[in-house]
Amino acid sequence: MKEFDRYHKQMLFKPIGEHGQALLGEKHVLIIGCGALGSSIAEMLTRAGIGKLTLIDRDYVEISNLQRQHLFTEADVQKKLPKVIAAQSALNSINAEVTIEAHVMDGNANTLPNLVNNVDLIMDATDNFDTRFLINDIAQKHSIPWIFGACVASSGLSFTIIPEKTPCLDCLIKVAPMFGGATCDAVGGVISPAVQMVVAHQVTEALKILVGGAEGNLRSTLVIFDLWHNQYQMIDVSKAKAKDCKSCGTDASYPALTYKNSTKTEILCGRDTVQIRGKKFELTMLAKQLERFGEVNQNPFLVSVQTKAHRIVFFQDGRTFIHGTNSIKEAKKIYYQMVG
Ligand SMILES: [Zn+2]
Repeated sequence: MKEFDRYHKQMLFKPIGEHGQALLGEKHVLIIGCGALGSSIAEMLTRAGIGKLTLIDRDYVEISNLQRQHLFTEADVQKKLPKVIAAQSALNSINAEVTIEAHVMDGNANTLPNLVNNVDLIMDATDNFDTRFLINDIAQKHSIPWIFGACVASSGLSFTIIPEKTPCLDCLIKVAPMFGGATCDAVGGVISPAVQMVVAHQVTEALKILVGGAEGNLRSTLVIFDLWHNQYQMIDVSKAKAKDCKSCGTDASYPALTYKNSTKTEILCGRDTVQIRGKKFELTMLAKQLERFGEVNQNPFLVSVQTKAHRIVFFQDGRTFIHGTNSIKEAKKIYYQMVG
């Protein structure tokens, strides 16, 4: 297949053209989160002919994801594949020319700063504001543009953050209420078209940044919509940029980065799941050891065991999910029962 065929329609679009297409093929985008937003962003950029994508996500594919997470299939659910691994395979089959780097891990203050080398743009595809503040600080510190995107129920938000030019997320949050201040997006459920609408805003802005020369067309407003209730707003936040901002101000201290994520256990938002960070296990040995607790499944990335009341998933990097509880105490009890 000639390259002319693959990107023909996109190059006919004048603001991109052959020149923009060539530039796009040299660019590297980091996508943080590979759920609904992340998988669709990754698919669009892969089809568009991005040079390289780096994906990071801590989760594996479950049946409840398929309603809105476009890259995943029932076979991925069956195999309990980590989302970035399933995504990598799907993306490779869509466009083999794109380099896809996949990381099965937590995006936190220890891991994320290691992923931004030679990154041209960061896409926010997380579901919580803790991680977004981290992205915000990293982007400001390394002077990388990033595109904030969030989705709850039938509503969505997006804003393009360019270091030294636009307000940052810290500035913004002080003037605009985001989903009533909730730290977790998962509370109100979500419908798929709202996700796609956020992705459409994010990826269009990404293309403008990546193909060069189109920066003048970047949206400077915060876009906020509710598809179900037919509301669509553009909020002018240009005055929100604060000189004394801890993230983008003149004496920035990047507070989210100095807070080293030392918490060993954490309740995952909206998931009825606790994550414990502990020692790394040799997965095959662990699988044998777990057999006495219930039905065990293993793939190269994780081992899971289904007991009467819980499913416990041990990842290669030393993280464990205890599904079916929101109690850290209960989760720890189950964990130590199994692995001492
Ligand atoms: Zn700021």
